[in-house]
Amino acid sequence: MLPLPTTMKAQVLTAYNEPYTLVDMPVPELTSPYDLLIKVEAASYCHTDAVCAAGGFQGHANAPTQWPHIGCHEFAGTVAQAFESNSEMDLVAHDFRIGDRYAVVDLRQVAPLPTSMSAKEAAPLMCAGLTIYAALRNCELQPGQRIAIIGCGGGLGHLGIQFAHRMGLKVVGTDTSKGALDLAQQLVKQSTIVDATKVKAEDLLQEIGKEDTVFERGQMGCDAAIILPESQAAFDYGMCLLKDRGTCVVVSFPRNGFTFSTQDVVFRHVSIIGSLVGSNRLLREMLTFTAKHGIKSTSKSFALSQLNELVEQHHSGVYGKLIVDMSLEDLSP
Ligand SMILES: [Zn+2]
Repeated sequence: MLPLPTTMKAQVLTAYNEPYTLVDMPVPELTSPYDLLIKVEAASYCHTDAVCAAGGFQGHANAPTQWPHIGCHEFAGTVAQAFESNSEMDLVAHDFRIGDRYAVVDLRQVAPLPTSMSAKEAAPLMCAGLTIYAALRNCELQPGQRIAIIGCGGGLGHLGIQFAHRMGLKVVGTDTSKGALDLAQQLVKQSTIVDATKVKAEDLLQEIGKEDTVFERGQMGCDAAIILPESQAAFDYGMCLLKDRGTCVVVSFPRNGFTFSTQDVVFRHVSIIGSLVGSNRLLREMLTFTAKHGIKSTSKSFALSQLNELVEQHHSGVYGKLIVDMSLEDLSP
């Protein structure tokens, strides 16, 4: 292994609702036999980074336990140092103790990258990819059944429609911006992609019914719906598209929650379940599945020093993923 520098660059938050500051920090040290030091090559910005920076996790287990706090917790890189072994291998990791460009991770939480996958391709899979893959698996659908993905052109959605299609599901995707809709349509041509601002859920349901030649209200529509946006309108849209006994999978967590109709759960027997990230076993399965089917995340790269510009673009409503690519600038101390 190469000798390690003693300091590194990091983009840190020192308070809620403040921009990130680029600072020099000591390279983190290994303290446990489970620790691995990863040289981060690419790190992807996650929606929970934005929630965390805005103080949305205050009082919850996910809140920063100390300042400074570093964002972009989904990343990929190479092992720089292990507590005991000295083997060098490509790894991906998902952990909250990240320091760009080096991060200490728990070796029980990492997974080897398929050889065909670059760090830039892998980083957005570590949280967004795993989260939507797990949500799809939690629907427990069989090939040929139909899934609705509400928010199909976002960071999770654009991966979700590709996974769902490759799982053999019929895909219905909705979104609200032209960029997101175009991206989704281009990624999975066989899907039904709909602008939710123009087509009412009830009308889309009738269209699906016609396609399936099913005309009874409770029998037409989707077997499951995954809700990715935080709006009540998105939740209601997904619920409307469900068949009776369908499953609504909630992935987003708006501050004030969602309101559901008791009619839907009592008379239509719709199940509402939540889904959060996924296990390490599922992470490895998702990486293999992604490589096997050539699934790609659509991302836009920024240098580490441009993180605040990345965050601004995140808030202006982007589609696909925004990532920090460490190779875009010289970060040597
Ligand atoms: Zn995340």
